Amino acid sequence: MDTDQFIEQAEAFLTEIEREFYLVGSGRKEQLEIASIFDRYPDLFSHQTVEARLRERAQAAEPVAARYLATFAADGYMENTVKAISEEITNRELAATVEWDGEELPYRQVRTVLAQEPDQARRHDLHHRQLAVTAQQHDKRAERLRRLHQEATSLGFESYATLYETLKGLQLPMLAEAMSQLLSDTEAAYAQGLENALTGARVDPDVADVSDIIYCFRAPQFDPCFPADEMVRGLHRTMAGMGLVRGDDFGFVLDIEQRPKKSPRAFCSPVLVPEEVYLVIKPQGGSDDYDSFFHEAGHATHYSRIAPDAPWPLRCLGDTDITESYAFLFHYLVHNTRWLRDVLGIPLQTAEEFRRFALFKKLWFLRRYAAKLHYELTLHGGDPAETCDAYVPTLTEALQVDIAPENSLADVDDGFYVAQYLRAWIFEAMLRRFLEEELGEAWWTNRETGWFLRDWWWQGQTLPLSALARGIGYEGLDARPLVEELLGLW
Ligand SMILES: [Zn+2]
Repeated sequence: MDTDQFIEQAEAFLTEIEREFYLVGSGRKEQLEIASIFDRYPDLFSHQTVEARLRERAQAAEPVAARYLATFAADGYMENTVKAISEEITNRELAATVEWDGEELPYRQVRTVLAQEPDQARRHDLHHRQLAVTAQQHDKRAERLRRLHQEATSLGFESYATLYETLKGLQLPMLAEAMSQLLSDTEAAYAQGLENALTGARVDPDVADVSDIIYCFRAPQFDPCFPADEMVRGLHRTMAGMGLVRGDDFGFVLDIEQRPKKSPRAFCSPVLVPEEVYLVIKPQGGSDDYDSFFHEAGHATHYSRIAPDAPWPLRCLGDTDITESYAFLFHYLVHNTRWLRDVLGIPLQTAEEFRRFALFKKLWFLRRYAAKLHYELTLHGGDPAETCDAYVPTLTEALQVDIAPENSLADVDDGFYVAQYLRAWIFEAMLRRFLEEELGEAWWTNRETGWFLRDWWWQGQTLPLSALARGIGYEGLDARPLVEELLGLW
């Protein structure tokens, strides 16, 4: 298969996959049928095809596009080889229940119940029942990872980490070092924030575990600030401020119709980029719903503004840290005191309280992901059944609450997604600071912001984050703006 044939097949395949996820997630189709789509493209992810893409990457005239095609092929190949084990784990989880209050509670709903359980002892009881189910998949997950490690070396890479570091341009050693610095710089602020959060929610800090944090983060007192029927209007006002809407037209399809089987969580489906991009929502209200709606709106805005004649790999593939950065830029508006006051009409004092709450939540996530990056580097450096022992000490040190060993393999995403998220977090803080300094504290009310971002969006994934960073006066990714924000210094 030459490059043109590969692109033609890959584009058709990805469009089918995206459409399938859109139809099922939006409640227009009952069942997800992914395996049959894979079956229709048997050559796309064969060992031979991936090897050809990797060779092409090494000698390509257009290195960025060739790297994206090689990543797409390798990712698909890796996923395909462990498809059966992945499905088995997912299906077991879907079928699993835990006994709770005399009823069988579906395993996947436990988290929602934990967030609402006010009694700490009962919360821990339920959490342990959940962990007992998680533990049943542990050996399967170890087997799956072992297989992925073998496949990485079969493709000619030294290790699993080298494969993703090379193909996704993750700069892992530099990122790991920046995250060590972040962990030490924010340690005291985190300890204080944790104590405030736990005592505020009447949780005993001596025995606190992750389920208590889930409960703290539910924070129903802020629900009235985030009504379901203001979400779309809030987005419209925000995008209109940047000159990004024409009348009621967002530039993408806003799927807001009520359907019984629609996903309760907002998502973006870039079926055809840029002409057929969906933002799907079933508004529930509450800050989490606003977070995910604005996050997905950032993705949808980006995808729908990419140049229609840009080469397919630069429109539809590429480093996900680029699109995640734009998603975070929209997402974190919901945590901005001035935006909360001006767009949602929340009183300043409440807006400020919410900002502080959201900032601690962000600090928790950042420290968790920083520790997870360190852990995953260890995990993928040896036999997962043994290296997974690093999970508890690494995460406990960063988070200062009880960490359950049962999650050591369940709490891992494929392909160092953790690193892509961390890179996007770092870059979004750099970009936001640049916008504030150049275009004003309320940059989302400035049409110049729209012009500036449109220029970047138009290029799709042509420029990796390091090049975008140079465009705003940095030498590369720099975690300082993020750390300063987390410390409340900016
Ligand atoms: Zn995202």
